[in-house]
Amino acid sequence: LSERLEGAWKKLRGQDKISEGNVQEALREVRRALLEADVNLQVVKEFVAEVQDKALGAEVVRGVRPDQQFIKIVHDELVSLMGDTNEPLAQARTAPTIVLMAGLQGTGKTTASAKLALHLRKQNRNALLVATDVYRPAAIDQLVTLGKQINVPVFELGAEANPVEIAQQGVAKARQDGIDTVIIDTAGRLQIDQDMMAELAQIKETVNPNEVLLVVDAMTGQEAANLTRTFHEQIGITGAILTKMDGDSRGGAALSVRQISGKPIKFVGVGEKVEALQPFYPERMASRILGMGDVLTLVEKAQEEVDLADAEKLQEKILEAKFDFNDFLKQTRLMKNMGSLGGIMKLIPGMANKISSEQLEQGEKQLKRVESMINSMTLQERKNPELLSSSPSRRRRIAEGSGHKEKDVSKLISDFQKMRSLMQQMGQGSMGMPGMGGFP
Ligand code: GDP
Ligand code: MG
Repeated sequence: LSERLEGAWKKLRGQDKISEGNVQEALREVRRALLEADVNLQVVKEFVAEVQDKALGAEVVRGVRPDQQFIKIVHDELVSLMGDTNEPLAQARTAPTIVLMAGLQGTGKTTASAKLALHLRKQNRNALLVATDVYRPAAIDQLVTLGKQINVPVFELGAEANPVEIAQQGVAKARQDGIDTVIIDTAGRLQIDQDMMAELAQIKETVNPNEVLLVVDAMTGQEAANLTRTFHEQIGITGAILTKMDGDSRGGAALSVRQISGKPIKFVGVGEKVEALQPFYPERMASRILGMGDVLTLVEKAQEEVDLADAEKLQEKILEAKFDFNDFLKQTRLMKNMGSLGGIMKLIPGMANKISSEQLEQGEKQLKRVESMINSMTLQERKNPELLSSSPSRRRRIAEGSGHKEKDVSKLISDFQKMRSLMQQMGQGSMGMPGMGGFP
């Protein structure tokens, strides 16, 4: 995805704001990328429409490039769609908490049941596993074996018993034993099946669980949407566990599950071992869906850059001529974050159109040297540039410390003073800019 998007970003990069025209291409890439990540078509459509709204409505953030802004919108929208934060397992006010596992056969319900039990044990919450899959040979044994492995009791009544009754008695047993959480593993089918649904619904009605967790195989892809819809409509789920995320799935199923049911994904399974369960973090999944890497760095950069409060404070200082070397240094760093001198120049009223790009480029080079000189100044000197104009020994010290000549420092100081008064005048909108060439 990241390569895909890059092309689109590049087109956005040259633009100075996100517009109806330039955003279409980027949106198309997002759409394609999501489909590639196996997100359901309907879900993709809704998502893209949402992003488009947000992108076009987005205020231009000064100093942030539109491509960065766009990707941040996509990322944030993904995160928000997936629920922003991790939602932990529900806990009943009075024990036991009852968790009902639901899902198709082979998705990892039994494994997830054991994983969950282990997860709870690590939080000092004890669990009872209840085996209601009486259809598949060895399904009960599988749970019993897992239970032994993690030292969690398993309640079962053999393969002849009725699943609803097993569930009911399991819960009674947990209550009796003062167990914190009951996890009911259920039978799945290869496909949605009315018997399975009826049985699940009946168990649910009988034990009144605090959680009904739909277990979804992340490889399910597009089908995840239908699956979720059916389970949610017929049983009513409270959340989901996305399994097999250790595979090469892009995690598109996560988006579908959330969008369709409105319920959070609470955990992800990341391996066959019982330890391989992690809380679900929307942020991480968004990165995975977006293809990670560059994209995330871009987003992080964009977030750092939007330190507008700082920029505005600087602008005020410029206008009031209280601008000192400290501010200058801050401004320099801000400029670096923003990627260009032009970014900050735009913050100064009347400045934007008055500097050529060559002048800017040269200015940027010079900034580096200037920064090193300022770094060699004491705090007092930075606050009070006048100290330096009257003291050759201070200037010499700074020159040596930063690897420059004394005349460079002198020039910096006089240029700085000139610049300060120029900025002030320009801030008041009275004149043009002679260019950054005057900088040391
Ligand atoms: P159930 O039919 O829904 O109970 O599914 P199982 O729990 O029996 O799991 C089916 C298969 O998927 C087993 O071979 C599990 O080891 C495997 N499995 C379950 N969860 C994961 C997971 O997160 N990652 C991987 N790689 N395999 C898993
Ligand atoms: Mg099973």
